[in-house]
Amino acid sequence: NKSDSYLLVTGGAGFIGSNFIKYYLSQYPHAKVVNVDKLTYAGSTFNLESVADHPNYHFVHADITDEKAVDRIFNDYPIGGVINFAAESHVDRSIEDASSFVNTNVMGTMVLLQIARKVWTEQGILKAARFHHISTDEVYGSLDNDEKFHEQTPYDPRNPYSASKAGANLLVKSFGYTYGMNIVISSSSNNYGPSQHEEKLIPTIISNALRHNPIPIYGDGKNIREWLYVEDHCRALDLIFHQGQSMESYNIGGGNELKNIDLAVKICEILDNNYPDRKGSLNSFKDLITYTEDRLGHDRRYAVDDRKLRGAMGWQPVVAMENGLEETVEWYVNQWTPTSR
Ligand code: NAD
Repeated sequence: NKSDSYLLVTGGAGFIGSNFIKYYLSQYPHAKVVNVDKLTYAGSTFNLESVADHPNYHFVHADITDEKAVDRIFNDYPIGGVINFAAESHVDRSIEDASSFVNTNVMGTMVLLQIARKVWTEQGILKAARFHHISTDEVYGSLDNDEKFHEQTPYDPRNPYSASKAGANLLVKSFGYTYGMNIVISSSSNNYGPSQHEEKLIPTIISNALRHNPIPIYGDGKNIREWLYVEDHCRALDLIFHQGQSMESYNIGGGNELKNIDLAVKICEILDNNYPDRKGSLNSFKDLITYTEDRLGHDRRYAVDDRKLRGAMGWQPVVAMENGLEETVEWYVNQWTPTSR
């Protein structure tokens, strides 16, 4: 019975996965979710405190590269679909050491695909059960003109993180071709919002500002990123999971392109205006902005063309960047005190 089946979310204790689970359980009161997460440095059950006691939410502490553990999940729960968020996700760490990236992002995806294929074939639901793989615009490489990445743009990953994500995408697609699995891939631009790990750009800017530490900006600060509020991403994922065509890829953009330096200035202005009591002896949080040596192979610009998603499913972002940033800053100010995390 499909209504009794569970959605298997991987990496649900991380930033986007935890936001997605909370969104999904509030959107669909009868939905059942199993979250499998290894709880690496990047994942925390703290992100899911508000649903921890939800009767339809189950947490399994396991590694997606562990075949036995994944097999057990498919035996313990009637899994009717998978959304694969689990990944090593920080580019700088992948430049230091690529091995965990290839392990989790490629091998882990392979384990999920193989076990899902086996179990769903046995159950006769291979073509019905959806395998939704979460990817990134970084697989397309870097832009040095005014164009945007579209779904047909050839992959050209420039760092070990994006290479491992591109590898996973190809593997997922191949399981669609080879076995007729019902796969779909979504590639989004940079997300921001509550619960993102402090190592990422926006939380780094906010937390360093609150600590009155230098706010590091790579290179000349003119690298451009497109930003998507995490809740807008969750709404898009919900649509793609339910309505996306099998074997298709969908880009999710958001349309907010900003130079890193302008983003840092914007956040400092929000802090200056909304939290003047946190300024102490500073004139402005902007005084903390410090240029640092550029990241190796730093992609210049990412921006995605998401007209396919907008056209097919009527999705559009509803959170203006100004509001999303204010919400995000407020979340970090409330969650974060210098001694609490
Ligand atoms: P995150 O680092 O915050 O969370 C990743 C989660 O995966 C963590 O909870 C971690 O414990 C878990 N995990 C890692 N290895 C695992 C393993 N072997 N087995 C089980 N769990 C494991 O990442 P995020 O920012 O939430 O990103 C989620 C997904 O979205 C990733 O696939 C990422 O590539 C993709 N993505 C992220 C962004 C972004 O801006 N954050 C943009 C586009 C795509």
